[in-house]
Amino acid sequence: MPPEADIASNLNRVRDRIAEAAIRAGRDAASVTLLAVSKTFPAAAVREAAHAGQRHFAENRVQEGLDKTSTLADLNLDWHLIGHLQSNKARKAASAFAWIHAVDSVELVQKLDTAAQDAGTQPNILVQVDLAHEATKFGADAALAGDIARAVVSARSLRLRGLMIVPPIPEDPEASRTWFRRLRELRDDLVTSGIARDALAHLSMGMSQDFEVAIEEGATMVRVGTAIFGHR
Ligand SMILES: *Cc1c(COP(=O)(O)O)cnc(C)c1O
Repeated sequence: MPPEADIASNLNRVRDRIAEAAIRAGRDAASVTLLAVSKTFPAAAVREAAHAGQRHFAENRVQEGLDKTSTLADLNLDWHLIGHLQSNKARKAASAFAWIHAVDSVELVQKLDTAAQDAGTQPNILVQVDLAHEATKFGADAALAGDIARAVVSARSLRLRGLMIVPPIPEDPEASRTWFRRLRELRDDLVTSGIARDALAHLSMGMSQDFEVAIEEGATMVRVGTAIFGHR
């Protein structure tokens, strides 16, 4: 785990870069939420980042996330699940994560809704879209995103908040721009098709390598791990 001073200064550097990208794009930096991706790093690293003012953290595995949320319950952090979610873990996910980013089927929406009703929670949901069709990636086809989003809107205990994408790992950050732009355009199409703009306000896109490009293309949530915590 990197020393405390490194995490704090890495966070400051990332925040500065977010602010600069927002200025370039003519956006308010406050419209971009930084998610610190803490997967594989210990709870102590999260605690250091929290002491440096970071509130939102993201994990990609349910069990690892549960361990950290319970160890760090005293900090009252906002936890995001950003990894693929299997239906049989919906129950745990709905009770531990305020935000679930990788929802990619109507079946999963129904499982999560039942789980959230039982747990008495109202998780915020983002629909993960797969635009590049890589064999190894999860996410729904763009053509199905509307059906999944409408299922979330109809669910009793879920709140639709937006779309999420994990594009191919870029050779250079500019290579991601087309995927980010297409996710924004898909969102705009879904709004035109009748889904409330508020329910699709969030675009979760951009990682350590390409978060500035994502902000230029409209990201409201960037998921940054390596640039804050170091290499995994
Ligand atoms: C690990 C992960 C990230 C963060 O990646 P970095 O390159 O370390 O910033 C972002 N999003 C998802 C879905 C991840 O699994």
